[in-house]
Amino acid sequence: MRCPRCDHGESRVLDTRTGTGAIPGAVKRRRQCLSCGFRFSTLEVPVREEITVLKRDGSLEEFDRQKIVAGLQCALKKGNRRREEVEALADRVVRQLLAPRPVQLTAEEIGNAVMGCLRDYDPLAYARFLSVHRSFADLEEFQKTLGQISHGNPV
Ligand SMILES: [Zn+2]
Repeated sequence: MRCPRCDHGESRVLDTRTGTGAIPGAVKRRRQCLSCGFRFSTLEVPVREEITVLKRDGSLEEFDRQKIVAGLQCALKKGNRRREEVEALADRVVRQLLAPRPVQLTAEEIGNAVMGCLRDYDPLAYARFLSVHRSFADLEEFQKTLGQISHGNPV
């Protein structure tokens, strides 16, 4: 990082702070130029490579964590979950999806990851999510799933 005053290339880190508030994951460093002694701060921000999502109709859209949160909120709304719980669950879904460092995901892969986490977390919400997001072709499977849940068997 070059000194903003003299353009010298080397500086000493005086202080490192994470979680600066405005930008999640950002690291702020206070530095002192080794040449002129000028003090300045730098901000490091993680940049996530853009991931595209292939939708069922063949169109592409940008991967959006907020949509996963919205889907989970929709599935969990009757349980009156706290926002933090939904966010934590969304984080789990996102971690699982992004762990293999994909360039592109399909809507189906995302749906499966959401359902997998929901199933572990709240079987009834899982069944509700299935009813909304699966087509009528899967109705039989849905009813079977509901039957298993109401009989107390793990899905
Ligand atoms: Zn300098």
